[in-house]
Amino acid sequence: MQIYADNAATTALSPKVLEAMTPYLTEIYGNPSSLYRIGSAAKVAVEESRQTIANLIGAKNANEIYFTSGGSEADNWAIKGVCRMLKAKGKNHIITSKFEHHAVLHTCEALTKEGFEVTYLDVYEDGLVRPEDVKNAIRENTALVTIMYANNEIGTIQPIAEIGKICREAGVLFHTDAVQAMCNVPINVEQECIDLMSLTAHKFHGPKGCGALYVRRGVRIQNLIDGGAQERSRRAGTENVAGIVGLAKAMELGISTMEERNTRLTKMRDRLIEGLLNIERSRLNGSQTHRLPGNVNMCFEGIEGESLLLRLDLAGVSASSGSACTSGSLDPSHVLLALGLPHEIAHGSLRLSFSDDNTEEDIDYLLEVVPKIVEYLRSFSPLWDKIISE
Ligand SMILES: *Cc1c(COP(=O)(O)O)cnc(C)c1O
Repeated sequence: MQIYADNAATTALSPKVLEAMTPYLTEIYGNPSSLYRIGSAAKVAVEESRQTIANLIGAKNANEIYFTSGGSEADNWAIKGVCRMLKAKGKNHIITSKFEHHAVLHTCEALTKEGFEVTYLDVYEDGLVRPEDVKNAIRENTALVTIMYANNEIGTIQPIAEIGKICREAGVLFHTDAVQAMCNVPINVEQECIDLMSLTAHKFHGPKGCGALYVRRGVRIQNLIDGGAQERSRRAGTENVAGIVGLAKAMELGISTMEERNTRLTKMRDRLIEGLLNIERSRLNGSQTHRLPGNVNMCFEGIEGESLLLRLDLAGVSASSGSACTSGSLDPSHVLLALGLPHEIAHGSLRLSFSDDNTEEDIDYLLEVVPKIVEYLRSFSPLWDKIISE
């Protein structure tokens, strides 16, 4: 049996999305900036996609959507663009959380070299930012609050509307990295007082290398990529036309099927969690209720996450220990450490993330193989011997 259970890292391209993209990879190859017909046909496709995306997130105007190369660029642009703009006004403070994606954390860190100070909010044991903490952290010189919509490792969904309202009332700009939440949680930028929002197509069955940044009208932001006049001179570079068409199509499909999928995945998720919690000395990381329908993240004491992943791979299961960026390094995940887990427990983590493509049979199989592998690894783990003799 082969199971792909790493949909938080990336998803398979949907055949319907590929079909929508194909004409723009073949006949309609013109440059959208040019004047002849195959160029203008490409331009029309880009603008229609922009409108579709604006409608799907409740944006007022299609001009509030800018296309990027993905989530990392959108995060970099939102944070650097706003902060560099506001620095001249004496605003040099950023509020974020301890468990953001590295595209946000490393960007904030980079800005400290330009004179910014960063407040990293706690996420507590349940993996949730407290709106009161945001309120208390806002200062006179705060330029931006950036809090992710849903966490990529533990899947916890943040109280974004409440945080947005607090920022709006305080007159501080609010950015959210909604990469993991898009197509999994209903999102409306107007109702939730979101000023900037990052997206990427490959996390919801679209192509890799194409994303978007929503920038509310009136929000001033410096360019990140200088060059030609594309994206109304805000983001240079010939448009990734097929990617943009794929992004809009994947969002359309993902949002229209969300309710049904969420009901199905939540049931599968909770059955898997319940079954895996039967393993001795196991724990679920992060809140079970404020959680993406397709995310399960567990720790099993006395084993190494990496060994578990290798054994799972041999059993036909593609999974992760957390973030793709931390695998390959021996450091435990910054997300699990932010929950307050000790290093030795954070090492034995497993993230299983599901999409439309997964079935109840996948869950049956995981419930069969994961406990067996954990038991096998513990059978020769000195760490486990020490734990159970205490
Ligand atoms: C995947 C991911 C990103 C990065 O997106 P790319 O398109 O791969 O650059 C950013 N933030 C979160 C939360 C993610 O899960």
